[in-house]
Amino acid sequence: MFCKSRIILCLSALAAFGSPAIAVSNDQDDTLPAAAMPLIKQLPEEDQYFQNIARSGFYSFKNAPQPLRVYLKPSSAKVSPELQAALQSAFDVWTKASKERLKFQFVKVDNDPDITVVWTNNPGDIKEGKQGYTDFVKTKDDISKSKITLLTNRRNGTPLTAPFAKALVMHEIGHAIGLNGHSYSSGDIMFGGRLEDTSHISASDLKFFNKIYTTPREELLKDTLPVLEKIYGSDSLIVSKNMARLARIYNNKKQFALAEPYAEKALPVQEKELPENDKNYLTTLSTAAFAYWNLNKFDKACPCYETMLRLKRKGVDIYLTEEQLYRNIVRCREEQKQTDKMLEALNEMQSTFEKSNPQGEGRAWAMAKLGYFEFQNGQKEKAKPLMKAACDIYTRVPSSKFGSWCINFYKSQFTGP
Ligand SMILES: [Zn+2]
Repeated sequence: MFCKSRIILCLSALAAFGSPAIAVSNDQDDTLPAAAMPLIKQLPEEDQYFQNIARSGFYSFKNAPQPLRVYLKPSSAKVSPELQAALQSAFDVWTKASKERLKFQFVKVDNDPDITVVWTNNPGDIKEGKQGYTDFVKTKDDISKSKITLLTNRRNGTPLTAPFAKALVMHEIGHAIGLNGHSYSSGDIMFGGRLEDTSHISASDLKFFNKIYTTPREELLKDTLPVLEKIYGSDSLIVSKNMARLARIYNNKKQFALAEPYAEKALPVQEKELPENDKNYLTTLSTAAFAYWNLNKFDKACPCYETMLRLKRKGVDIYLTEEQLYRNIVRCREEQKQTDKMLEALNEMQSTFEKSNPQGEGRAWAMAKLGYFEFQNGQKEKAKPLMKAACDIYTRVPSSKFGSWCINFYKSQFTGP
């Protein structure tokens, strides 16, 4: 795939990494810039609602096997049969409204359910002084699971009535299945204000639900970028996150040239705005690196891998190993014919692994590369001990192709009849 025929040093195994999974809760916590609200208010009401969903990046259960498994987690909160019935009926309403695109099955065992529902009588369990709260965990581009937490009593202490509970649960289910934003109209179940006993799933709710569940995610992201840029600014975190999401989808489809411009725009914003151990930033960093690498833009890939290596060495959770990162950096330097920097990286790699894993393949690889470099420059005497030390390690790693090459090369050049 990415073999360099000149010196047989194949890194293809390293190029075959995809995007890491992210497991974080929803993105609704992004604070809106003060200037955004007047701009939002200028939009038609439905668009105000939709941009709220759009800015969270369109996650859904559309690829999940149906029915979705719903687990009612036992809790110490007392829940009347009326409230339980209201809860069940809220799920039924969504099944009907979605024309059975989504079906739900209540399961008795907590075995990796799609949706967990828990009642609580502790107002402190629910954020923002609300009656209910929904969190979801996303993996790649879908929701992998959602958790709905519901308060059994109103904030003033009175018990929930069944009709209100039903409306509340319908609202939280909306979040749980991907309507990750609020409407500004009291006629919608996703209204961000006070729900009523009579609140119901509106035409707008359904319209956006259907849009999310029928339109390819990259189209949704791409189509909504202009409006988000207008509201939040093209260098805002919200826009950069959606650009990064888009880039990741294109990377996964191996459409690297489409991914690159979005990753390139997203990365500096996140570099500036987010802490360096932020999962979003780290994902965007690897997304950009992956696009550049696959487009053979090693001048741009290199700084990304160097940043990743620096963070990895600080203990930040980077999904590539230190060895993989060094190898990629060396390859980038090699491709750019930056010999000094390549040697610098190899020497650093060698001494790093000499301390941390002296008998490991990482150190062998660095020494073999250094030795081979000397050999190519006619420095056979300098090459020999390096290649020998590498081969000694590789002898114990028989599965490595590069190791076999190294051993054969050493035998043919430095030993022999
Ligand atoms: Zn809500």
